[in-house]
Amino acid sequence: MIRKNLLTATVLCTALIAGCATSMTGRRQLMLVSEQEAISASKQQYLQTMSKLGSEGKLVTDPKLLNRVDTITGRLIAQAIIMRPDTRNWEWSIQVVDEPKTVNAWCMAGGRMALYTGLVQKVDPTDDELAQVLGHEISHALANHTQERMSVAMASQLGAVAVGVATDSARNMVAAQAAAALAVTLPNSRASETEADRIGIELAAKAGYDPRAAATLWQKMAKAGGNGPPQFLSTHPAPGNRQATLAALVPQMLPYYQKPGPRPMYKLARAAPAVPATGTKKSLR
Ligand SMILES: [Zn+2]
Repeated sequence: MIRKNLLTATVLCTALIAGCATSMTGRRQLMLVSEQEAISASKQQYLQTMSKLGSEGKLVTDPKLLNRVDTITGRLIAQAIIMRPDTRNWEWSIQVVDEPKTVNAWCMAGGRMALYTGLVQKVDPTDDELAQVLGHEISHALANHTQERMSVAMASQLGAVAVGVATDSARNMVAAQAAAALAVTLPNSRASETEADRIGIELAAKAGYDPRAAATLWQKMAKAGGNGPPQFLSTHPAPGNRQATLAALVPQMLPYYQKPGPRPMYKLARAAPAVPATGTKKSLR
């Protein structure tokens, strides 16, 4: 099925030159939605998802865990904005979802993120290792991989219809929102993984997190599966040489990590007063 979808995407990509872009490493990317559409659709999808999880009592409120996650994420986002200054305008945010069996994390287009308690509990990452996971996720968004996966999702859902829909902005938004939900469940390509590994380890090192933790993180992740691989590994397939490539990057990254002085911090505000339409009092940003 995925192969058929990718084939559809490839055909569309060839037929619809305007829908293609070039990645940071020169790879062709299928882009059926603009970045602005991807961000806007992802925001709607994110607020709906988090509103539902909030009403089910599945958003973590433990201040100790939230403070840990916000500190690491805030330092990474500050570096992401230095690397790609236009993302200063993104509404960066993160929620921790209380699902102890789900070993996962993601970042949508526009910087809206989720981390699942299963990853924290089963992988038991150090701060340095957690920074590698979150830095990797942020990197997928910075490199427009999320927009690319939304485009693949739209192409796979709609086939050739997507081309027509792309000219109709209202219908396009409905399709894009569905694609935003689907995109976080689709596997990244191995080429995207290599890009996100490279950008992620640099963000983490510049934010003050040990680049040597990249290798130990993926080892721990592989062991965390229990009955089968964790969800995170199915959406982030390993490039064959992942460990070796990350290890080779460490000497280059150590000077960023060892640079003395405090690191800039992006202040995440979780308690924005957005009340969901369901009338619950859980507030979401
Ligand atoms: Zn990945």
